[in-house]
Amino acid sequence: MRSAMRAVAGGVLVWAISTPPVLAQANRSVNPPAVPQVPKTLNVATRVGVPPFVFEENGELKGFSIELWQKISEELGVQYKFARNSNVRDLLNAVKTDKVDVGIAAISITSDREEQFDFSYPMFESGLQIMVLAKSTGSSSPNFLSLFFSPSLLQLFGIMILIVLVPAHIIWFSERGRDGGMEISHSYFPGIFQACWWAAATLATQADSMPKAVVGRIVAVIWMFTSVVFVAYFTATVTTSLTVQQLQSNIKGPDDLPGKVVATTKGSTSAKYLSDRNIQKLEFTNINDAYDSLLKGEADAIVFDSPVLMYYAAHQGKGRVQVVGEVFQKENYGIVFATNSPLRKPVNNALLTLQEKGIYQQLYDKWFRDR
Ligand code: GLU
Repeated sequence: MRSAMRAVAGGVLVWAISTPPVLAQANRSVNPPAVPQVPKTLNVATRVGVPPFVFEENGELKGFSIELWQKISEELGVQYKFARNSNVRDLLNAVKTDKVDVGIAAISITSDREEQFDFSYPMFESGLQIMVLAKSTGSSSPNFLSLFFSPSLLQLFGIMILIVLVPAHIIWFSERGRDGGMEISHSYFPGIFQACWWAAATLATQADSMPKAVVGRIVAVIWMFTSVVFVAYFTATVTTSLTVQQLQSNIKGPDDLPGKVVATTKGSTSAKYLSDRNIQKLEFTNINDAYDSLLKGEADAIVFDSPVLMYYAAHQGKGRVQVVGEVFQKENYGIVFATNSPLRKPVNNALLTLQEKGIYQQLYDKWFRDR
């Protein structure tokens, strides 16, 4: 994560160096930072429900992006008021309709959005990644225990025990007490047990003796055929269960997502990624609800911003979930403005200053390293 951050910092600096006019203009406003067009109290849209960037704790806004904005506003020498939105789409609409001056959360800079808004320099390196339940990790060997206790197999065993009783009774009746035969006791107990043993052994093609009476032989032949069908059915059921188990635990990257139910947040770049590929999705306003849907088994996976997923996997979700595969769609977070907003340059300047002063790094360490 730290190296990722260095890359962002590096990216921001390279950008700044390669655009001297912007930097020169920005530098002029460093001391004092206030710029004439910037209103003294800014309305700042944010989006609650993407910890650790923005979340609510006892009704208070917390998170990396909230603290970053606090530092930016100190640099700018402005007051601000947060306007809370429940998803990124609403946040962007608020910026577009000029209800607010600026928006900050975990907003990805995309080409679509760049057409309708202005963005600050990248403030965080992100990208899309996949999260699944922790149990589907490790070896891809099937879980035999859960297979044997699966409802379909238990049902099959139950039926088998009931069916075995039928030939067992007939065989006991026709073969009991017969000399030189199957040595089945004349009395019901233990005779019926001996007959059951014969029926079960025949089912597994392991019988060591066969009936001698005509009725017994007819029943034996019917039972042998029934056994062949039963074994075939049993094999098919086990194979199906194993295949399903294998499929369920096989999400290792974006190529495994088609056919799965994938949870994410409304209006996000992840939601767009999934709909572009016709992958069935469950959309939530808060990413925490997406985590719940995964834990409850309603969703097979979550596709969302890598730093958000990583944070959950290392904290509340530790041991229960895991992030799999690489970041498959790189994205950067930015602060969003209406097109041609006079705020963009001062905010960019403040971002660079925070980096140069090491304040950005302190915030980064606080939220992504020391916790
Ligand atoms: N980075 C995501 C986006 O900008 C965040 C989505 C969200 O906040 O739910 O689309």
